[in-house]
Amino acid sequence: MAKAFDFKANVNKALADQQLRGNFAAAMGGFVLKRRALLSDPEETERLRAAVRAIRRRTLAKLPKLLQKLEENCTKNGIHVHWAETTDEANALVLSILRSHNATRLVKGKSMVSEEMHLNHFLEAHGIEVAETDLGEFIIQLAGEPPSHIIVPAVHKNRRQVGEIFHQHLPDTPLTEDIPELNAIARKTLRRKYMEADAGLSGVNFAVAETGTLCLVENEGNGRMCTTAPPLHIAVAGIEKVIEKLEDIHPVYRLLTASATGQLITTYFNMITSPRRKGERDGPDEIHLILLDNGRSDILADPELRQTLQCIRCGSCLNHCPVYTRIGGHAYGHVYPGPIGKILTPQMVGLDEAGKLTTASSLCNACEEVCPAMIPIPDLLRRLRSELNAPSGEGTVRGHGAGRSCTEAAVWKGWQLVNTTPKLNELATRMAGLLGDRLPAVGPLGAWMSARTRPKLARKSLHRRCREEGVDDV
Ligand code: SF4
Repeated sequence: MAKAFDFKANVNKALADQQLRGNFAAAMGGFVLKRRALLSDPEETERLRAAVRAIRRRTLAKLPKLLQKLEENCTKNGIHVHWAETTDEANALVLSILRSHNATRLVKGKSMVSEEMHLNHFLEAHGIEVAETDLGEFIIQLAGEPPSHIIVPAVHKNRRQVGEIFHQHLPDTPLTEDIPELNAIARKTLRRKYMEADAGLSGVNFAVAETGTLCLVENEGNGRMCTTAPPLHIAVAGIEKVIEKLEDIHPVYRLLTASATGQLITTYFNMITSPRRKGERDGPDEIHLILLDNGRSDILADPELRQTLQCIRCGSCLNHCPVYTRIGGHAYGHVYPGPIGKILTPQMVGLDEAGKLTTASSLCNACEEVCPAMIPIPDLLRRLRSELNAPSGEGTVRGHGAGRSCTEAAVWKGWQLVNTTPKLNELATRMAGLLGDRLPAVGPLGAWMSARTRPKLARKSLHRRCREEGVDDV
């Protein structure tokens, strides 16, 4: 199986990092409690979740049409729309737009799609200075790390670590762990970046087809600065970010903020409908929207897996996942961590590369219970797991069958034989009974038993005992 990363090694490394585990334990509980407090009426929550699911399903059912409508309306509004099938195409588009404006300094708002594109790395290799402006992204950019969470990218750092990063990477910055002081340091550094930037880049939370409006949900005001201060604004979005009508926004926004950070609303909600018009005091002269496919059309084509695209990137499934909250986002080795990453990444990059991620779940269903779009994550995980282990030739997701092991297949064949042949079954249960609780802790059995109570096999099988006690119809 071709492996781009060693998931098991990543997990073991994360589990051994006490600081990381402590940081996650401290941060995640807060999100869970805040969400619970805000969504305290189960009936109202279920009503909203059903509404969000219906909106997302309706949108996906007519996605090609809505994308066309979005393009028409954005173009009418003066927004240039571009299409990218791959991340390479999207990167090349960003670069060519920047070059056509002689732009060399870019300020960026938070965008998971740009992470998917590895945009910073690409632009920096082409001489563009990129400054992340979301506080969490700013911290991890200085630290040279990818985001660890889709909503709170630096959640794995505590304030002492943030203070050390600032002290180390920002000239003349004293060492401090005082939060207002740390905020002031970031604000001062970023203000200069906004003033000097030639262009701003942002993600998109919703792109409204009926009006050609780009909506941006944020708390820090940095998104608004990136999209209004520089003369050029480039927005990047996955094609699934479309929403049909303005009235669809309300329930989705309501659950997005509540599920993400337990907020009723966020501090800023930006609706960008056109470049600066005559007489307006701020706003860019030019706006470009890049719509990225990167495997989404293939996901859309499968009626079951399509549900993955209902995701509104709230991060709630991460906050509630017993696996994510113990290993953190970096262990997943790809852009999208946690439960949504476990179903999205293998579909985007192939099961041969990321199939192992599907094993990182206890199938406790917490992710499905809190997902505002009601994505059946455990069901989709089971589907991907079966495709991962399917005989080659069976399955639709790229890389299917990559996890199939001949040994495992032989073991199951043997199991089938033993359980369908009475004489063999009798022999096997007698031998198992002799082992009792002395089952050898070797190979996968050893790994399994390292965290579980050793099974104790009965000396006599139920069949044998029944027979000995005169029950003859067994
Ligand atoms: S899968 Fe659901 S809970 Fe997870 S990020 Fe997406 S919308 Fe939120």
